[in-house]
Amino acid sequence: MNGPAGDPGAGVREAARRALDWHDLAAAAKDCTACPELAATRRNVVVGSAPAGARLLVVGEAPGAQEDAGGQPFVGRSGQLLDRLLAEAGLPREQVAVLNTLKCRPPGNRVPTRTETAACRGWTERQVELLDPAIVVTLGLSATTWWLGRTTLTAARGRVHLVAGRQVLATYHPSAALRHGPRGEPLRLLREDLALAVRLASPG
Ligand code: URA
Repeated sequence: MNGPAGDPGAGVREAARRALDWHDLAAAAKDCTACPELAATRRNVVVGSAPAGARLLVVGEAPGAQEDAGGQPFVGRSGQLLDRLLAEAGLPREQVAVLNTLKCRPPGNRVPTRTETAACRGWTERQVELLDPAIVVTLGLSATTWWLGRTTLTAARGRVHLVAGRQVLATYHPSAALRHGPRGEPLRLLREDLALAVRLASPG
């Protein structure tokens, strides 16, 4: 899985390319050792969830403690808020694909390093190919720059960007909405952006 020295992402890209479906990819990713510190400290590789036929893909940064413990993305407070806002917008979480750009929890929830994000990139790229969603929503700056390159959330949010022919809508991370509280701008805008994404994801 490590690939040539100096490029841990090469082994990941190779393994990801061999995955013919989500199940294959999850089986290959669960033993990933491309990031030695993360491989040594994680409890689970949190591959993500991919309900059959999902047209909306939501992308976050990295698993937190609860996600690491349970092996599922967005199950903590941020996830509960995400579920509530999706349900309000008319799309149950059970019909939405959810993943993180980094599949393993950084110790102490530190920000993922660029090396880690680059090493994990091959898994995420293959996941997007396999899912082929109608629209992608990026939560927060880290997931947004993964797609758009260097930008700010102020510049990118609330608009649909076309990335390699795919619609990408950037918005706030639910953790920002929680931090700013129920009257804060991030919650209002996250709610508005998710409602737009659900409309754009609707067939027809
Ligand atoms: N924050 C994220 O970005 N992803 C999760 O899965 C949980 C919290």
